[in-house]
Amino acid sequence: MKTGLYGGTFDPLHNGHMKVAQAAKNHLQLDRIIFIPAGDPPHKTEQTITDKAHRLAMVRLAAEKEGAFVSDWELLKTEKSYSTKTLQHFKELYPEDEIYFIIGADSFRDLPSWWHYRELMRLCNFVVVSRPDVDKSTFLSRFSGDEAPPRVFFLDNIFMDISSTKIRQMVKEGEDISRLVPPVIAEYIEAKGLYKG
Ligand code: ATP
Ligand code: MG
Repeated sequence: MKTGLYGGTFDPLHNGHMKVAQAAKNHLQLDRIIFIPAGDPPHKTEQTITDKAHRLAMVRLAAEKEGAFVSDWELLKTEKSYSTKTLQHFKELYPEDEIYFIIGADSFRDLPSWWHYRELMRLCNFVVVSRPDVDKSTFLSRFSGDEAPPRVFFLDNIFMDISSTKIRQMVKEGEDISRLVPPVIAEYIEAKGLYKG
């Protein structure tokens, strides 16, 4: 079985995330996608993150509608989340699976600074999604000193000019976000009064 793992803060989940998941599934013929909302991302400590129960509820609403799965594994942990630990967990859970870790080019560029990144590279293939301002030609040279370079598939031309930051900002300013998120997400944000403050 080919399993795609897609981690993110998903604060909130938006159409860009859904498009990435769908494109990864189609292009690499994945059997399933598992969304993994992050509990306490090491690189976002300075930013206030919306209650994880809300983030999880939103990912569930959108993903399950599309036949994708959602794991609360990172959310339930009390210690910091490291992708390497998450990958170890899923590899233990699904030892026979070929794992595809879906990641934005901005994050992948920083991979060599991640906790035990060589172990991570051993455990999975990477599906790298192009982002503006990230030149992919410089990527692989970063791994030239490594014995086993990462196995990378690039997903190009699926960029949508959407970010969760932009959506939070728009809600705060009372703007319409209905074209940027799945309808269930817009309804949820409205019903719970998220991102107003
Ligand atoms: P924020 O603005 O709060 O950083 P975000 O929109 O980047 O949020 P994340 O939850 O941080 O959302 O993203 C999860 C993953 O999805 C990351 O790997 C990120 O690079 C990727 N991603 C986010 N938005 C897009 C988009 N519009 N197109 C392609 N990839 C995206
Ligand atoms: Mg981001």
